[in-house]
Amino acid sequence: MTITEKCPCGSGQIYEKCCQPYHNGSDFPQNAYLLMRSRYSAYVLDRPEYIMATTHVTSPYYSENRFIWKRRIAQFTSETEFQRLEILDFKEFDDLAVVTFVVHAAQKNKDFTFTEKSYFIKANRQWFYRSGLCIAGRVPELITRDKTKVLPLAYYGDPVLRKQAEPIEEITDEIRQLAEDMIETMFVCYGAGLAAPQVHRSVRMFVIFNSHEEGAEPVVLINPKVSNPSKRLVSESEACLSIPFVREDVQRPDAITVEYTTIEGKQVIKECSGMEARIIMHENDHINGVLFIDRLTKKVRSEIDPVLKTIESRMEKNK
Ligand code: ZN
Repeated sequence: MTITEKCPCGSGQIYEKCCQPYHNGSDFPQNAYLLMRSRYSAYVLDRPEYIMATTHVTSPYYSENRFIWKRRIAQFTSETEFQRLEILDFKEFDDLAVVTFVVHAAQKNKDFTFTEKSYFIKANRQWFYRSGLCIAGRVPELITRDKTKVLPLAYYGDPVLRKQAEPIEEITDEIRQLAEDMIETMFVCYGAGLAAPQVHRSVRMFVIFNSHEEGAEPVVLINPKVSNPSKRLVSESEACLSIPFVREDVQRPDAITVEYTTIEGKQVIKECSGMEARIIMHENDHINGVLFIDRLTKKVRSEIDPVLKTIESRMEKNK
């Protein structure tokens, strides 16, 4: 790329004075908006190192195997013909930022335009990419949900994850707001469920979203009680937003009955099975201070112990 060429991030400035200092490591983007743009131009210019260096360790895309990771990014950039970046929205909170953007692109001569709502976090005074909710095509409606608030997650090692959470006596405006913010956080982090202790609130509430079900809507469960576990046990792999990098098979009953209060204050009794039951049991464990790794066999648990120790120390460092 020559000096006179415009930066692919679309700023209108020349690359040398725009994203190049970030890509070279001689400067850091001052906010998530600039980071987003510079990551886009790194994709266009095939700079996988920059993508890797600006991805947070808790990101689902982060990989310990840098060789494979780099190859994965390179494959994506070589298959994609980037046309233009369009930023729809940018919101910044203390250590969190949400950027909604559209990437106009093609793959194998077919339109590959997608909208992404990305979640960025600040650690050690530097911005990093955490995760994103991606939707095919240009979807401007994404920004009409203006109440965007992504809450900071509690990670493995945080004492709040080990507490017995308190019942909710009354559904106040504050609880309603918390439920809404938790749904947003769950979506942006690609979670199937999120319990209040995972966002540092020790109350008996969780949200679930069973994407395996067509037309599913997020559900808020307040003061839930799980009963009638089926005798039949099923083993399925589970992961947790609070324990990045770990995915293991967990044995649980196939069906349960759950009784809970909705966010409107209605009482519900429901029998559920399969994935829905599993998500509810996983989240219900959270409000009792239990994590899915506690349900692994001793052998598997000892195998992942070094990973857990690494997460704990990393999270401490990344605060
Ligand atoms: Zn979890």
